[in-house]
Amino acid sequence: MSDCLFCAIAAGDIPATIVHSDDDVVAFRDIDPQAPTHILVIPRVHYANARELGESDAALAGRLMAVAGELAESEGVAGHGYRIVTNTGAGAGQSVDHVHFHLLGGRPLTWPPG
Ligand code: AMP
Repeated sequence: MSDCLFCAIAAGDIPATIVHSDDDVVAFRDIDPQAPTHILVIPRVHYANARELGESDAALAGRLMAVAGELAESEGVAGHGYRIVTNTGAGAGQSVDHVHFHLLGGRPLTWPPG
């Protein structure tokens, strides 16, 4: 989708620290990390949010979860525990309208989130 920051990152048109890339899924480090490990996992195909993704391609949604879990292992945060979260809508803090799952770990994570 033109004018989408994360489509541009997935296409390689805007630089990012890529930690995973395959035909369907790209993951890169968040530019403003909120934890020692803060990675964004996205589909290459543009969906605005998790609901659109889930309704359109449940298998791809599952792939994103699988990649996030693999990255938690490779980042060394799986043993202690980590969080996968997606914000949907401005009121929940979504600032980029290309679905993305935040993988957060490497520090204690409190609940409920703010
Ligand atoms: P959200 O606010 O849930 O939509 O998450 C968007 C995330 O994208 C935020 O955590 C930002 O720090 C992150 N972000 C914005 N621009 C970039 C970028 N160019 N490279 C990496 N992460 C970014």
